[in-house]
Amino acid sequence: MTDAQLIDGKAIAADVRATVAKQVAALKDAHGLTPGLAVVLVGEDPASQIYVRNKGKQTIAAGMQSFEFKLPADTTQDDLLAQVAALNADPAVHGILVQMPLPGHLDENAVVNAIDPDKDVDGLHPVNAGRLSLGEDGLVPCTPRGCMILLDRAGAKLEGADAVVIGRSKLVGKPMAQLLLAANATVTVAHSRTKNLDEVCRRADVLVAAVGRQEMVRGDWVKPGATVIDVGMNRVDDPAGGKAKLYGDVAFDEAKQVARAITPVPGGVGPMTIACLLLNTVTAACRQTGIAVPSV
Ligand code: NAP
Repeated sequence: MTDAQLIDGKAIAADVRATVAKQVAALKDAHGLTPGLAVVLVGEDPASQIYVRNKGKQTIAAGMQSFEFKLPADTTQDDLLAQVAALNADPAVHGILVQMPLPGHLDENAVVNAIDPDKDVDGLHPVNAGRLSLGEDGLVPCTPRGCMILLDRAGAKLEGADAVVIGRSKLVGKPMAQLLLAANATVTVAHSRTKNLDEVCRRADVLVAAVGRQEMVRGDWVKPGATVIDVGMNRVDDPAGGKAKLYGDVAFDEAKQVARAITPVPGGVGPMTIACLLLNTVTAACRQTGIAVPSV
């Protein structure tokens, strides 16, 4: 069998960002609307600082307004909630993202729950999780939204397909399963207590791995002809002090010999997440101002 089609998340994300930029230009022209995204960072976690910087850069590159709030690591819960309340009330801000993880003394759930659900571009508010499970319009978490775009661009047939999602986090696994179900796949959600995980995976026409375990899914877990989406980002430091290497949850070199199509790590799901954050911000801005949401 020849190697699988490579699902090029980098190129697809660039295409999504270009689409967002066109949508934003059209919203400015037709309605005088500039979508605005506010990102709140508490503390100085180096990885979070890089994410926040990239989000800001890409927001501006798409023609949107970017608002960054850097709060000290000892910010109190009340001060953070006051910041969220101010952003909820600000009409120039259509999307609010509080960068996780927060320092340990802060209650992440309480902060997420304080965000106006219509501005919750991370899609983590219980109202948005509820809307997703009820099949109502809401804001969908960015990474699973990105995975759905990758599946679409890879030509994966979802209706009637057997889909297996490994992982049941509120950020990835659960919303991913809901999106696949909404697309009429027959969905199995596997997790750390699932028995015979390799057999479960071998049934999958569409396999999404969101586990956080380096190369756990082996080539012989993959059904021949399956489409494989690897969400995993497992950073492994170089013992010699060189650059850390990123591994997926899927043993790529093995799986690519069996799958029909597969995402690499890096360059697969990763770049889609910020692209979908921009899409969610446009969606939120349109809904808040009564404008039809442009299609992707
Ligand atoms: P998480 O909250 O830690 O959830 C991991 C899930 O995997 C849990 O549901 C857990 O099951 C399950 N699991 C753990 N060990 C397992 C095993 N041996 N067999 C089967 N299932 C197992 O992680 P997450 O936030 O969903 O993220 C998952 C991965 O995706 C991580 O590598 C993360 O870095 C990556 N990620 C990437 C992006 C991106 O932009 N590309 C975005 C978000 C996350 P239980 O529920 O039973 O504990």
